[in-house]
Amino acid sequence: MKFPLKVLQPIKNYLEKKQKQLEKRKEDLDKEDPYNDAARLNDNAAIDTDAAEEVGHERVSALQKEIDKTLIRIRKALTRIKLGNYGNCVMCHRMIDTDRLAIDPTADLCVDCAKKAKAK
Ligand SMILES: [Zn+2]
Repeated sequence: MKFPLKVLQPIKNYLEKKQKQLEKRKEDLDKEDPYNDAARLNDNAAIDTDAAEEVGHERVSALQKEIDKTLIRIRKALTRIKLGNYGNCVMCHRMIDTDRLAIDPTADLCVDCAKKAKAK
């Protein structure tokens, strides 16, 4: 069983919008990263400044990693829409509960398989 286009289209639109937002957020984060600050002074910087920059950089890269993970999930979901197997569990190939997809449109496992995957 497949989802009809009228169900898939809004999901696709949502995912594409989300993807753009996240890509934009990543660009903004790049600018926030003190390591990418063009005005940063490399010589005789105080140790305190170095430490603050370290924290800032760590925070930015942690956020970017999270965004990357979400972007991968979104891209995979968009690919599944394109291939026509969106909404099917990638493990058991049964339909994923629509309530579950409403909460997380990038879900690729049904509830049962997600539980099994977590238990591993
Ligand atoms: Zn499953």
